[in-house]
Amino acid sequence: MAHPDDETFGVGGTLAYYSSKGVDVHLICATKGEEGYIPAELITKNLSIAEIREAELTCAAEILGLKSVHFLGFRDSGMSGSESNKNPRALISQSIENVAERITSKIHEIKPQVIITFDPIGGYKHPDHIMIHKATSKAYFGFIEKFGQEKSSDHYLPEKLYYHIVSKKLMKVFVKMLKLAGKDPSAFGKNKDININSFVNAEFPMHVQIKTGKYQKQRKMAATCHLSQGAGKFGGKITSALIDLFNKKESFMQAYPPLPNTGRIRNDLFDN
Ligand SMILES: [Zn+2]
Repeated sequence: MAHPDDETFGVGGTLAYYSSKGVDVHLICATKGEEGYIPAELITKNLSIAEIREAELTCAAEILGLKSVHFLGFRDSGMSGSESNKNPRALISQSIENVAERITSKIHEIKPQVIITFDPIGGYKHPDHIMIHKATSKAYFGFIEKFGQEKSSDHYLPEKLYYHIVSKKLMKVFVKMLKLAGKDPSAFGKNKDININSFVNAEFPMHVQIKTGKYQKQRKMAATCHLSQGAGKFGGKITSALIDLFNKKESFMQAYPPLPNTGRIRNDLFDN
């Protein structure tokens, strides 16, 4: 993932589900969310934004049952077009190869069976999410290019790569509801910098859907850790009810190994 909170707001239900089943779930987070807006009352003299958000992530990781959290040490680039995009440490200032190399060495260290990352539009077109999608894919396909699909005792091979996708059916309902509530879908979010219209029609195949309704409570508790990011509360009652609806199921596209288009939707990331 790219920022502290992506693990909770995006795939929190899935992570909680698998950790509750005894699966070791590890998180690699590229930045410490340095560009996140922090309400003035949460800023103390002694803590930087990065330190606040790292502590929030540690809290959420504990609630979601994560086994470990790793940072790659890059800097949050902020939304597209912001001044922080130009910071030399910004994630999007790096080459994809450089970021992929860092991810590859973490994969060697953790040795996951299954890897989850963002879809090609990074969920809602955040430039850091898109960078992590590209770099994780590059890292993953680097293993496949080197070893093919052959498992062997002298090399390690991650079995599957998934992209977290958002159901476009639900997204379209969401846009309609926003319009009915008099809100502008092209200026969504606390900072009004998310243009839902620009990605509402981006469709990706769904191969796995995890029922995460039972894990909503845990996901919401983890969201309360991210106090600086609104603790998971976006907008009024309608928006939060719709977000709850989104989070009842989390959906994934299997990027590798490629799947024939049978329309079958599995309910486990480890299934074949
Ligand atoms: Zn993010």
